[in-house]
Amino acid sequence: MTREICIIAIVFCSTSLLFATRLSADEETQNTSGENSFFEHVIGNKVVQVSMNAAGELTELTNLRSGWNYAGQRRIWRIFYTQNEVSDNEALAVSDPKITADEKSIKLRYDTLKSLQGETLNICVEIQVLLEGESDDVQWVIVVENNQSGITITEVQFPLVGNIQLQPGQSLILSRLGGKRYFNYKALVRSKHSKYRMPDQKGIRYGVMYPGQSATTNCFVFAANDEGLYFGSHDPSFQGTFHSFLLKGEELQAGFVKYPFLNSGEKFTSAEFVLSSYSGTWHVASKKYRNWANSWFIPPEQPDWVKKMTGWQRIILRHQYGELLHPHSTITELAAIGREAGVDSLLIFGWWKAGMDAEYPRYAFDESQGGRELLAEQIKLAREQGTTVQLYFNGRLIDKDSEYYRSGEASKVSIKDLDGNEWNESYHFGGDGTTTWMFGRKTFVVACSTSQSWQKKRLEWVDKALSVGVDAVFFDQMGQFETPCTDIRHGHPVPLTNAAPIQASFIREVRERVRAKNPEAAFGTEVLNDVMTMQCDYIHTLGGMYDSSGFIEWFRYTYPEIIISDRAIYDDTDIERRVNILLSRGLRSDVDIWRCRGTIADTPNYEAYLGKVNKLRKKYSEFLLEGRYCDTEPIQVDNPGVDARAFQSGNLLMVVSTQSEQNSAEAAIQVSGYQFVSKDGLGDYQCEQKGNTLQVTLKKNAVALAIFEKQ
Ligand SMILES: [Zn+2]
Repeated sequence: MTREICIIAIVFCSTSLLFATRLSADEETQNTSGENSFFEHVIGNKVVQVSMNAAGELTELTNLRSGWNYAGQRRIWRIFYTQNEVSDNEALAVSDPKITADEKSIKLRYDTLKSLQGETLNICVEIQVLLEGESDDVQWVIVVENNQSGITITEVQFPLVGNIQLQPGQSLILSRLGGKRYFNYKALVRSKHSKYRMPDQKGIRYGVMYPGQSATTNCFVFAANDEGLYFGSHDPSFQGTFHSFLLKGEELQAGFVKYPFLNSGEKFTSAEFVLSSYSGTWHVASKKYRNWANSWFIPPEQPDWVKKMTGWQRIILRHQYGELLHPHSTITELAAIGREAGVDSLLIFGWWKAGMDAEYPRYAFDESQGGRELLAEQIKLAREQGTTVQLYFNGRLIDKDSEYYRSGEASKVSIKDLDGNEWNESYHFGGDGTTTWMFGRKTFVVACSTSQSWQKKRLEWVDKALSVGVDAVFFDQMGQFETPCTDIRHGHPVPLTNAAPIQASFIREVRERVRAKNPEAAFGTEVLNDVMTMQCDYIHTLGGMYDSSGFIEWFRYTYPEIIISDRAIYDDTDIERRVNILLSRGLRSDVDIWRCRGTIADTPNYEAYLGKVNKLRKKYSEFLLEGRYCDTEPIQVDNPGVDARAFQSGNLLMVVSTQSEQNSAEAAIQVSGYQFVSKDGLGDYQCEQKGNTLQVTLKKNAVALAIFEKQ
């Protein structure tokens, strides 16, 4: 259905909400159209309707099942460029776009743009909005052609939903750190006021970059239980994509940013973006993303021991500030301490002579501690006694205080920033004094993701690790988003904004090398994002799941095949609540007591409680470790104060319920299509079937497990 109609007709045929939205548009509306702005271009089907006015503003993005319109009559794009020494110049529309429409699509074209000073810029912009069949997925594509000499188009913000009209109760789900959920998303953005560095008077900006430590999937959602708005960048190039939120007063703009760095004569055609005013819970949005991801994502097949792994103790032998905390001779003792709490793996950091974060890429055996022989002997003994062993290497850092750096080789492979300088990093881990903490100890440059010679070193480390008999090779930081490299000698586009696919292919080669040497050996890395995870057997995350905004459910539900750790239980406080989250979300323990200085024996509460939980995890491994995480999808719980999650194994389903907020809480849990089989649990709990429901009563921090069989 396509039509050009007067706004009055729209008011009559659509909802009063739409009319209200239009009245709220303020003087900042980029409406240069005069009388033509009253004409609307509309496409729709039974579930969604999209309208744009003659000024190219989004006036309607309506879920027709509820009648809710998310649009706020704002323009849907912004473009920025660099000219001479000035960056972040904005290019503006000269006039209304040429708009054409048919039954399924609306096309906008701007033949030229103008600078803030009013000079014409030969930049052509074409936008297509497309709706197919009865889907609620509205597809968006932008094409930008730079025909203006002397400028580089650095960024394209698109599609933007400005003055976004959200329903009360809808929360913002970001994929940051695997998942964050913010019920007061405006307070979140407001808290990111730069104080000094940004033009906050034009709006406070917050956002996360994909793929990397910020955004782990290329989408975000505004979600309530009955409906939401999904923003997806379905971009198989995996180029850096910023998920942007700009708040001015109470007006919020949400959308994506791409960084094409278009020189004169170049053209950028975006991959498809999807805006979907879907109905249902956030799981609907997750499935939209996963359905697209299935076009490239191949789930990794992990070795059996990794699937059954409860977690690892992560221990630094020689720390960043140089102190030897745990000699090689203690490795079997460290492993035994872990097994007491059911932690069946040991991830060894700082095992080389120079210690943690020193001398990279040289990993020399520490002869003063007995060298390679003692290390291998201790690993062998620990494995015989029942602990798997993982050995650390850093996948990307180069110590500037190393022979490799001094030889000049490092400068050939290192990442250069937009100004051509080597990108530097420093990590201030200190001892009891303050000198290292304040002034640091080592400075690193970072290997470019495209470097073949650096990859050769990684492959050598695989051989080195497996030669001392470990079960897994761990390369730190490989999932991290890298700053765009500008070294023209590297042979990649400059700046490099899509390093992720290259990095992923190198990780695949590393994992294949591991498997070729030992089919039972595994490969893991740090920093979660979906592009990298499919090449790894497990991921060490950056934490965040235990914060009040923690929502690791997002990643676990979207990618239940991926094995990921928790992080940040560093001491002996708040143990039961956090370990119960670990249990009910199906995470693996990253036991890093005192930031990897101690062992779990140093935290007796944690040791005792994790020990009990790990007994359950091993007894019910087919659900809790090897099962498919289903979140709340198969269950209905009548008390939101009870935290219930489901795991599937074949035709069986396990429901884990717990609560940490009240002295006691009750809930009735319905599992449609399943029949109760058996129960188990921890702490003070009751769990029994009454009619069609499972009645649970949980004292604070108790856990009830119930197994159901498909009818
Ligand atoms: Zn490079």
